[in-house]
Amino acid sequence: MTPNNNFTIGVLALQGCVYPHRPHIEAMGDAFKAVKTEQDLKQVDGLILPGGESTTMLKLINAFKLKDVLVEYFKDHPVWGICAGTILMAKTVTNPEQDSFGLINMDVERNSYGRQLESTHYKIEGYPVSFIRAPRISCNTPDIHVHARRDDDPVWIEYDHYMATTFHPEMTLQFPSPMHTAFHNLIADKN
Ligand code: GLN
Repeated sequence: MTPNNNFTIGVLALQGCVYPHRPHIEAMGDAFKAVKTEQDLKQVDGLILPGGESTTMLKLINAFKLKDVLVEYFKDHPVWGICAGTILMAKTVTNPEQDSFGLINMDVERNSYGRQLESTHYKIEGYPVSFIRAPRISCNTPDIHVHARRDDDPVWIEYDHYMATTFHPEMTLQFPSPMHTAFHNLIADKN
């Protein structure tokens, strides 16, 4: 991380876990912005698609007519999907099937570790994170870089200018998380 290299990092703020990202982003010297409109999107150097409920998020993206705007943005800006956000980035989605943006050539099975009662804490690279009704990723191409696995499953991946985690690092009160730092570095690489 270069101290002089500071960015505005947006979090899509239609639904889900948005504001807990703020202290992680600010701890890196970056600015946080909740993104609700096309105007907001124009001001951010990278976008987090947060955890939440992917079906609801898709409905709201359509209701607020943000789909085409996001598709354009995704072409040349860093994007990090978290849990529900990862589901939105997949090529195909199962359990049940639903629409997605197809940014990363991976299949994603929703709620693959079980529902709320099976949700759990876990350490990824020594950092405690939360798996909350988490999906499971199957990568369809070796071009996807796997940063970390839970048992055999890839849970933190990177492909081109995209990053995805099936867990939430933002709930942990140690700022910034290694995943936020990696996203900052991904933005720095693209600038
Ligand atoms: N299970 C949720 C979904 O399918 C994702 C859960 C989460 O983002 N923590 O959208």
